[in-house]
Amino acid sequence: MTDDSARAASLLHLRGNSLSKGESVTLPLTVSAMYHLPGDPDGAAVYGRMNNPTWEALEHALGHLEQAETLVFPSGMAAIAAALFANLSSGDRLLLPSDGYYTTRLLADRFLAALGVIVETRPTATFTEGGFHGFRLVFAETPSNPGLDLCDIAATALAVHAAGGLLVVDNTTMTPFGQRPLELGADIVVAADTKAPNGHSDVLIGHVASRNPDLIEAMREWRKLSGSIPGPFECWLAHRGLETLELRLDRMCASAEVIAARLSAHPGVRALRYPGQPGDPAHNLARMQMARFGFLIGLTLDGKDQAEAFIDACPLVRPATSFGGVHTSAERRARWGDAVAPGFVRLSIGIEPVEDLWAALDQALSKATA
Ligand SMILES: *Cc1c(COP(=O)(O)O)cnc(C)c1O
Repeated sequence: MTDDSARAASLLHLRGNSLSKGESVTLPLTVSAMYHLPGDPDGAAVYGRMNNPTWEALEHALGHLEQAETLVFPSGMAAIAAALFANLSSGDRLLLPSDGYYTTRLLADRFLAALGVIVETRPTATFTEGGFHGFRLVFAETPSNPGLDLCDIAATALAVHAAGGLLVVDNTTMTPFGQRPLELGADIVVAADTKAPNGHSDVLIGHVASRNPDLIEAMREWRKLSGSIPGPFECWLAHRGLETLELRLDRMCASAEVIAARLSAHPGVRALRYPGQPGDPAHNLARMQMARFGFLIGLTLDGKDQAEAFIDACPLVRPATSFGGVHTSAERRARWGDAVAPGFVRLSIGIEPVEDLWAALDQALSKATA
């Protein structure tokens, strides 16, 4: 038994252990803009922009996994926007990864820079080089999406704190069962639960978590005043998805380890990134700071045509953007202008039985690269 397995087990009984006789075991979906509110508010639910029992149940469940106070948002980007806008002012310096999720950089360049925030970037693989002096907020993403480089979260947290800044970590690619940035010293975790935590590719949702009550209060106020609130039905679906996260992630990461090893030996593959591969440049760091090696594999084929042919030829791969769903999916990231080779494919391993999945991948790859 580990702490992770204990949290996975107790997650399934969080609601059940607080029930009174006759209440539903499953989470009720509450759709209401108004709450019955005679007289003074006295801490009762007041209005749909401030309170909703369905989203509070999802926050309780995510908070149980993060071991920290948690706020849910209507997408991963809404959670990232809360972490940035609630904690930065004009004249502050912000450091972002140059190779992380592209939209985070766009948001900073398009809106934070216009408000006087000074935005700088640095590659994830050399993130700690150059130090963090003068940065109000440092935002890390590890493994980075899509290149799968890593940075040392504990070393970054120490250096950022010594320089008087805050460390935010985007943990989307790992989830709380794969990596625990708050444990490693991060001040705030942000994540797109759109990906593996919901897991069924039918909801956009995100969260922030922190053990610092002042940071949580600032982000809660941001949510209340900006109106960046999640819909109750989306929260209900994400809550249901979260109940099987540990099971799905276990299958996805175990399959990814098998498939990455076999892909790296395939004659059609020019280069492969997977933190779990012993030869990967980030493998030692991955062993130190990650509980699992993840379900994302970066593989480079000869060029655009081979990559597209591979994706098209495999009946067990959905050609789609996004990742972390039950269905294995893949895309050629250069189609969005990411700084990767034209033949680079981001493969997100799903929950298909691994030997069937491998047989289909192997056949498609051999055909596409023949
Ligand atoms: C998908 C993603 C996001 C954004 O999440 P949305 O729910 O699409 O807004 C943020 N960070 C990373 C690393 C992602 O992969």
